[in-house]
Amino acid sequence: KVRVRFAPSPTGPLHIGGVRTALFNYLFAKKHEGDFILRIEDTDQARYVEGAEDYIVESLNWLNIPFDEGPGKDGGYGPYRQSERQYLYRDYAQKLLASGDAYYAFDTSEELDGHRQDHEAKGKTFIYNWHNRQKLNNSLSLSEAEVKQKLEAGEPYVIRFKVPKKESLHFEDEIRGEMVIESQILDDKVLFKSDGMPTYHLANIVDDHLMKITHVIRGEEWLPSLALHVLLYRAFGWIVPKFAHLPLILKPQGKGKLSKRDGDKLGFPVFPIEWRDPKSGEVSSGYREDGYFPGAVVNMLALLGWNQGGGSEQEIYSLEELVKAFSLEHVSKGGSKFDPEKTKWFQHHYMQLANDEKLAAEFDVFLKNKGLEFPQEYIIKVISLLKERASFLKDFWELGSYFFTAPSEYDPKASKKAWKEDTSDILDKVVVILEETEDFNTSNIQDRVKSWITSESIGFGKVMQPFRLSLVGAMQGPDVFEIASLIGKEETIERLKKAQA
Ligand code: GLU
Repeated sequence: KVRVRFAPSPTGPLHIGGVRTALFNYLFAKKHEGDFILRIEDTDQARYVEGAEDYIVESLNWLNIPFDEGPGKDGGYGPYRQSERQYLYRDYAQKLLASGDAYYAFDTSEELDGHRQDHEAKGKTFIYNWHNRQKLNNSLSLSEAEVKQKLEAGEPYVIRFKVPKKESLHFEDEIRGEMVIESQILDDKVLFKSDGMPTYHLANIVDDHLMKITHVIRGEEWLPSLALHVLLYRAFGWIVPKFAHLPLILKPQGKGKLSKRDGDKLGFPVFPIEWRDPKSGEVSSGYREDGYFPGAVVNMLALLGWNQGGGSEQEIYSLEELVKAFSLEHVSKGGSKFDPEKTKWFQHHYMQLANDEKLAAEFDVFLKNKGLEFPQEYIIKVISLLKERASFLKDFWELGSYFFTAPSEYDPKASKKAWKEDTSDILDKVVVILEETEDFNTSNIQDRVKSWITSESIGFGKVMQPFRLSLVGAMQGPDVFEIASLIGKEETIERLKKAQA
C-alpha cells in the first residue's frame, strides 16, 4: 500500500512551496488509494516556533487536503511528533555504532572551526570524511580505552555516519531519473548529539522506515541529502523507499526561489493563511484572508511544476480530477515561475463556478458587518447579476454597493457630461412614468420609459445617462432597468428625486 508523508519542521508558517509539497503527496496518495501522513519534525528545539504546528494543520484543513494519519489522528504508527518519539532514536544510533557504520566524535566546535580556517587558508573546503577522519578527534583515531574514558567523563560527543571511502553511488529519483554521486565528496554527517537528540537525517530515516513510507516526495532542497539517506537505509539493511524531489517555485521575475520578500514587493501572499509571528507580532497575509477560495489555490499550486501531459490544455481541475490525473512522471525537473496574476485568474474562474446561494450567505455576513440587512433572495439576484465581473466576495461591494445603499456622491466627471439644464425636468417626467408603472419589472419599466423617449424625440442618452447616474452614482453597472426593478419602485423614485436636489 502506498504511504507518503509530509514532514514539515514547525519553524514558522508554511510557505506556499511547502503547501505544494503537501498537495503533491496528497494527490499521489489518493491516486494510489494510499495514506497521506503528517509528521511533525520538531527535533530541533532551538528552531521551534510556537503555533507553527497548529498553523500547518489549519492550513491543510482550509485547503481540503486532509491527512489520514498525524498528530491527533492515530493510524497505528504514532506518535507523529518526533519530540514524542525521542526515546527510540538512540537505539538506532547504537545499532550503527555496533555495525561500524557510525562512530563517536569528540571535536569541539573550536577545533572544527580551526580545521575549517586552515583549509580555507589553502583554498580548500574542510570535509569531515574518509580522507581526514583518522586525523580528527574521534573514536577512529583514539584507542578504545580513551573513547571509553571520554564517554564516562561525560565529554560532549556526536555520533557521525561513516560514509564509505571511495564508491560511486547510484540512485534513482522518480522525477530526475538516475543519479551518480562519488562518496568521497560526502561529509560524515552527524546523526545523534550528546543531548540525546537525533539530527534530522537519523530521525527522518528511522521514522520513514517505521511508518512504512513507500515514497518520499519532498522539495528539491533535500536532494543533496539523498545520498546520505540511501546509505543510511543500506547500513540498516532496510528497503529504500522511492524518492521524488519536486522542482523549486521561482520568483515571478528573475531567478531564484520565491521568497516572502517577493510577495511583499508585488503585493501577494506567500502563505496559505494569515500568520502572526509570536515574537515580533508581525502579521503576514494569507490567501484565505485575501479572499481566495481554497480550490483556486489548490488548482494554481497543482499546475506549478506539474501538467497532465498528452497535449492536454486543461487548466481548471477539481480536487477529484487532480487526483485522477496526477502522476510523478509529469512533474517537471526545472523550477516554475510563480505568477500572481494567474492565481487571480484561477480565483476568477472559481468565482464563476461558486454557488450563488452560498456566496449570498457569505456576502450577507459582509453586509451585516456594514449594518445592512437584505433578504437572501435579493442578495442572490445581485450576485448573479454581477458575478461575471467578480473575482472576490468583496468585489460585489465594489461593483454593486448601490444595490444596497443609495449613492452618497456622484462621479463628478460623469455628472458634468450627463447633467444638463433640462435634466431635472426630464427626470421629473421619468418619475411620473415610473409612478404609473404598476408591475415594476425590468421589461415594463423599459417599455414605458423607452416609448416615452421615442414619442418625445429626446436623445436617448439625455435620459438614460442621468437616470443611471442617479441610481448608481457613476456610469457603470448592468442594465439600468434591471437595476431599477431590483432596487424597487420606491427606492428608484427616491434616488431620482435625491439626485435632483
Ligand atoms: N523536516 C524536513 C522539512 O522541514 C523534511 C524533509 C523531508 O521531507 O525529508 O522540510
